[in-house]
Amino acid sequence: MSIEKLAREQVQALTPYQSARRIGGSGDVWLNANESPFDNAYTVSGQGLNRYSSCQPNALINAYADYAGVATNQVITTRGADEGIDLLLRAFCEPNQDSVLICPPTYGMYAVSAENQGIATTQVPLTADWQLDMAEIDSALEADTGIKLIFVCSPNNPTGNLINRDDIEALLTRTQDRAIVVLDEAYIEFSPEATCTDLLARFENLAILRTLSKAFALAGLRCGFTLASPAIISLMLKVIPPYPVPVPVAQIAEQALSEAGLARMKYQVLDLTANRAYLQAGLSMLPGVEVHPGFGNYLLITLDDADAVFERLGRAGMIVRQTAVANSLRISIGNRDECEKVLAFIRQQLSE
Ligand code: PMP
Repeated sequence: MSIEKLAREQVQALTPYQSARRIGGSGDVWLNANESPFDNAYTVSGQGLNRYSSCQPNALINAYADYAGVATNQVITTRGADEGIDLLLRAFCEPNQDSVLICPPTYGMYAVSAENQGIATTQVPLTADWQLDMAEIDSALEADTGIKLIFVCSPNNPTGNLINRDDIEALLTRTQDRAIVVLDEAYIEFSPEATCTDLLARFENLAILRTLSKAFALAGLRCGFTLASPAIISLMLKVIPPYPVPVPVAQIAEQALSEAGLARMKYQVLDLTANRAYLQAGLSMLPGVEVHPGFGNYLLITLDDADAVFERLGRAGMIVRQTAVANSLRISIGNRDECEKVLAFIRQQLSE
């Protein structure tokens, strides 16, 4: 018998998430993973590593609670926001019985993580303007009483738009005592006024995902947070593995969340927002290119020849991402030089 056959059937059938690093590529302009171009310096002490780390380091939890404006018992830190997704599934969904609702096109890990744990996914696509289809979501909730988690991403990856706050509120009201609304705010620092953290005071069934991977320029650190009611946080703490936060991760994350760290993050967000405006303006002047309004650190464009342009960009060492949206490219906002290179290259391709 092959080892493959010993694996859980669900795992045998699983198509793993195609992360940017997994897909790979070669080049020197990396605009495919919504990473930050800023490589900030940190110090780690390198001492005390003979002892296990604290499960939820107080200083880190306090710093993030302060930053997000919530109480410390409304915060859990995880290995990236991705682990937050995994823990919510573990805590709330019975394998081979419950399901989650997702609204594509959206972040791929919700479905992959669910499938991985034997949890079915119900899809209710976003409307033509990439908003929640409230009527269809309602029907899905009626048809499937096993839906436990509803994933909403705002700003949405890959489309870049914000989801209407009224709809999020209506969804929370509709699902009270019935399901958890998981609101993914991975890119919220690029549109801070759109945060829904204030809704935590009113809705016990809201969980908000956050990360240091994007605006904080720490994708390699693997540090994320979930903000939620103390009831949800306690359940997540029940299923989190022991010692989930490596000591150096806590040290670096605390520096990122210090007063100086926050000021630097805000400055860098302004810089990237200016680059986004530059790229947005430049790309929208190109014939046949539609640039969709973007509220994160990336822009989604649609154009007839997306596949060919993607290939040629790749061959020229510029790595962007293809998405589930037809004829689209998602371009992360890099430094000005990278934005200029990509814009010039696409302009040249389309004029040939
Ligand atoms: N949510 C969204 C919408 C994302 O785009 C990503 C990363 N690509 C994540 C969550 C996961 O972030 P992290 O690096 O914190 O695991």
